[in-house]
Formats: sequence, C-alpha cells, structure tokens
Amino acid sequence: MTHVHIIGGGLAGLSAAVDVIGRARVSVYEAGPACGGRARSYFDKALGARIDNGNHLLLSANKSTFRYLGLIGAEKTLTGPGAPIFPWFDLKANLGWTLSLSKGRVPFWAFSRRRRVPGMKLSELAMLGRILRAGPDQTVSEFLGDGMLTRRLLEPFAVSALNTPLESASATLLAAIIRETLVLGGSACRPWYPSEGLSESFVDPAVAHLRRLQGEVHCGTRISGLDVQGGRVTGLKNGSDTIAVGPEDKVVFAAPSPVARSLLEAHLPGFSAPDAYESIINVHYRLSAPVKARGMLAKVGFVGLVGGVAEWIYLKNDILSVTVSAANRYTTWDNDELIATIWSEIRQAVGPVLVESLPQAVPPVRLVCEKRATFAATPAQDRLRPQARTRLENLALAGDWTQTGFPSTIEGAIRSGTEAIKVLGL
Ligand SMILES: Cc1cc2nc3c(=O)[nH]c(=O)nc-3n(C[C@H](O)[C@H](O)[C@H](O)COP(=O)(O)OP(=O)(O)OC[C@H]3O[C@@H](n4cnc5c(N)ncnc54)[C@H](O)[C@@H]3O)c2cc1C
Repeated sequence: MTHVHIIGGGLAGLSAAVDVIGRARVSVYEAGPACGGRARSYFDKALGARIDNGNHLLLSANKSTFRYLGLIGAEKTLTGPGAPIFPWFDLKANLGWTLSLSKGRVPFWAFSRRRRVPGMKLSELAMLGRILRAGPDQTVSEFLGDGMLTRRLLEPFAVSALNTPLESASATLLAAIIRETLVLGGSACRPWYPSEGLSESFVDPAVAHLRRLQGEVHCGTRISGLDVQGGRVTGLKNGSDTIAVGPEDKVVFAAPSPVARSLLEAHLPGFSAPDAYESIINVHYRLSAPVKARGMLAKVGFVGLVGGVAEWIYLKNDILSVTVSAANRYTTWDNDELIATIWSEIRQAVGPVLVESLPQAVPPVRLVCEKRATFAATPAQDRLRPQARTRLENLALAGDWTQTGFPSTIEGAIRSGTEAIKVLGL
C-alpha cells in the first residue's frame, strides 16, 4: 500500500489525509503540540477559558469544507441562523439593520427596504458585474463607488474575505468569492461557524477519524529538510533522524509558505511562494455570566460592524469575541488602546440588545494577534502562488497559499489538500 507522508497538520494537511485514508497508509507530521495550525482552539490561562485563535466564518457556498466535515462526521458541529441573514451596525450613523438576501440568483432583496442595505441605490449593484470582469492586476478599490452598498456591504465583505487593504487587494480574488456566493444567491450565503470551537469542528474529529482508520498523526514532529534523489523525495529530516520515504511513497507538503520557501527552494529551481502577510486581531472579553441577546442578534449569534475598528462581534457563551481583519494598519496602536476602543464599540453596537447591560469597565480580556494570518491577497502575491504539482515526481504542495484561485480561507486550504492528492494520482 502506498504510504502518504503529510508535512503539516493544518486544515490543508488534514484535508489531504482525510481524502486519501482508506486508499493509502497515511502519516501526518505536525510541528506544533496539536493539529489545526491557524484554525485552532486552546485553553487560555489568563482568561480561564477555552478560545479560538480567531473567529472563523464560513458560508454555505464552501462546498469542499462541508464535504470534509461530512467525511469526518462533524457537519453538526457548526451553527448558524439557517438563512442568509446578516445583522449589521454602523457605528458612525448609530444605525442597525439586517441584510436578508433572497434565496435564488435574482436579488429581490435589493428591492425591499426591510431587507436591503439602508441608503443603497439599485444602480450600485452594477459594481458586482464590473468586479467579476476584473483583470489580474486590478485592485478592489478601483471598482468601489462611494454609495452605501460599498460602505455598508462590499467594503466590509471584501476586507473580511481578502484580509487585505482594498487599495492593494486583488479584484480577481474577490471576484472568485463573489462568483461562488452573491452571484448564486442567498442559498450560497448562509453563514456558519463552530458552535463550540474550531478544534472541536475541524481538527479533533479529523484526527479521531484518521486514527480510527489506522492513520498516524505525529504532533511535535517538525520536518526540517527533505532528502531528494533522482527527481523524488527519499527522506524527511526530523532533528537528527530521517523518516525514510520508500520508492512507492508520496509526500504532501502542507506547511505554511515561509516554511515552504526555506525547505523547498533548494530542490525546486524557480520555486516561488507568497512572502508578504496580513495580520488578524481577535479580542476576547470574558463576562461574568453567559451573554444573552434579544431579536436578530440572538438568532444569528454575530453582528457585522462598519465605521469603527471592530468588524465582527460574536456571542460565545460568556465571551464576546471581536475580529479585526487587515490589521497591519493598527500596528502603531498599543493593545490597551485597541481593547478600550473595541469595548466601547461593543457597548454601542450590542449593549442595547443584550438582556443584561454590559459593564462600563473593560472585563477580563485576551487580545490575540496572528501576525501571519494570511498572505497579503494582492495581485503580486497571487502571482507567486505555486500549483500543487511539482517537478519532484512524488511531491505535491497544499496550503491556502498554493494556487487555489481563492484567497487564504478554510475553503481554499481544504480544496488544496484534495488537489494535492489528485495530482499525486491517488
Ligand atoms: C485569526 C484568523 C481568522 C481567520 N478567519 C477566517 C475565516 O473567517 N474564514 C476562513 O475561511 N478562513 C479564515 N482564516 C484563514 C484560515 O484559518 C486559513 O486559511 C487556514 O486555516 C490555513 O490552513 P493551512 O493548512 O493552509 O495552513 P496552516 O493552518 O498554517 O497549517 C500549516 C501547519 O503546518 C505546521 N508546520 C509548520 N512548519 C512545519 C514543519 N516544518 N513540519 C511540520 N509541520 C509544520 C504548522 O504548525 C501548521 O499546523 C483565518 C485565519 C486566521 C489566522
């Protein structure tokens, strides 16, 4: 039986493993103490609670992700309103509304005052068509107008999806997302997120599934180099040991792009991979009791914000958790300033719809900044992304940074894993 060695136990590596287990022997080598990479949960001692490194939102359009969850038996670990509804709050205008998309392709929602973005004009929808025809060097801001559809929907949607300032973000990467979501209509835009945590949804069930099928998952195993002979990988270095890669064996390289650059450049002449990154900040505030909301917020569990620093607020039991994307722009802010600003935005946006009022003083808090959350989704970085197939006969690449046609997302990572298995002919 072919032995597939997978370097990296993030979602790309786990996706490759889950895809091929049953047809091949599988070993996953993960450098960290647990799998999950940039999508993981852990117990935070200072906060005294288990948290995710960052809030992750999925849409029903993410077909490969739902297939993966089905394979590992974890579809039911996600939660969401079951409908394409998104509560929003504009901090500058002190105005809340719910965007309620229509199910099918025809945007009936845009004609209804109760369902659309307040203040938008129908003519602004033409912008979507122009973005879909964008050229590879164009940036998102070249297409945006100055109306409310831009300010209250497209800008926040694009910044979250691309995690890159829109003046430099690739319009074709945004078009790839729009094509699979808004163009298909509300049935492709239902929001989902883990009801417990990222690891409980995406990681632990995958590792359990692999082990049930005799797969090996070795955490704390950092691969520090590759032995290459005769156009194929023959060994993986782990400290002073070498893991032998037999003549029939295959290797999936699913570690992040900086690691790819340092380990693969010597073996793959002309190899390129993204080398600029954007950070994401998450701030987790722990309340003294579970947070209960009224109305739409209770139904959906999160709210999108415009006009401030915070972009998404999630209600997670006794934790209010906030996401700030494309966060390199806040590097000059100190953490206390960010924490205090975001807390006042939370109080303004969700305070009035919570059952218990929020304290004025900032509660116990943890700020997590993922410095290399994603590669910067610019046209130049997109061109550096390699295909899954390499010149080494038994080596394929996976990871959200490979050329998936998508920005750095769970869906891209999971697709890349299945693509790597495909190009290895398994
Ligand atoms: C804060 C945050 C919020 C996000 N929000 C969203 C969202 O809302 N929606 C969405 O779709 N996506 C989101 N993303 C992006 C998503 O998390 C990533 O695209 C995805 O997790 C990447 O998976 P990956 O397997 O490609 O890479 P990684 O998760 O980086 O996995 C690579 C793995 O390789 C391991 N490794 C590194 N070096 C070695 C080595 N030498 N040997 C062995 N193993 C090694 C690492 O420890 C890691 O586990 C977010 C990311 C962050 C950080």
